[in-house]
Amino acid sequence: MIVDAHCHVDLYKNLEDVLKRAREVGVCGVIAVSMDVESMGRTLNIADASEAMVKPALGLHPLAVQRDFNVDSGLEDALTMLRRNVSKIVAVGEVGLDHYQSQEREVQLKQEVVFRAMLDFADENRLPVIIHSLKAERRVFNILEEYGDLAVVIHWFTGPAELIEKGVRRGYYFSVTPAVTYSSKVRRVARRVSLELLLCESDGPVEYRGVVGEPADCRMVVEKIADVKGLKASSVEDALLENVKRVFKRVNCA
Ligand SMILES: [Zn+2]
Repeated sequence: MIVDAHCHVDLYKNLEDVLKRAREVGVCGVIAVSMDVESMGRTLNIADASEAMVKPALGLHPLAVQRDFNVDSGLEDALTMLRRNVSKIVAVGEVGLDHYQSQEREVQLKQEVVFRAMLDFADENRLPVIIHSLKAERRVFNILEEYGDLAVVIHWFTGPAELIEKGVRRGYYFSVTPAVTYSSKVRRVARRVSLELLLCESDGPVEYRGVVGEPADCRMVVEKIADVKGLKASSVEDALLENVKRVFKRVNCA
């Protein structure tokens, strides 16, 4: 059985078909990340209706924190939503920094305030965090160092190689996307991160070379990880499921 560790379920128009195709290839759970307060609401509703297939994660994504974002009221709204639903969620996510799309210093500083508030919430409630770090990997790793006890999942890592080693030493999990089929940086993560710290994800509906990603793609990601590591796909599948249970303590698949 496979769990998709990172998917934006609220952004599909045909979610029922997407989940059906996932079940057909042995995906028993989908961890649903959110972007902003509206997306949190949609994600919770979908999870409620999904008969435990969709496991919600709530958080403010760095790209929701743009120039016009009011940090005080925006954080207040997000934290109210998080507090109200803390018993339902399996993680805080996706949260972090994005210096690729947000190059203005002022916006980057706002993202940091929000990121720290999300980390504080996760820490207080002993929840794992799902991290976005595009082109801000070093800064993200520095901030995370201040939160030594957190369970951390680094999503779709394409940053400097030495941070992979640093993350592994700190016990961070790394989740691998379908880009593993064509991206040498993603393959490098699959190769260098030990099996007990790897997860798989679709990040759907992100497109991979023009094709919309979905949870069913995790089957292929497991096979690619097995290829890269020279292992049997079935042993990778079993190991990744154990990893999911270890890091997302509230996720259990039959
Ligand atoms: Zn994402």
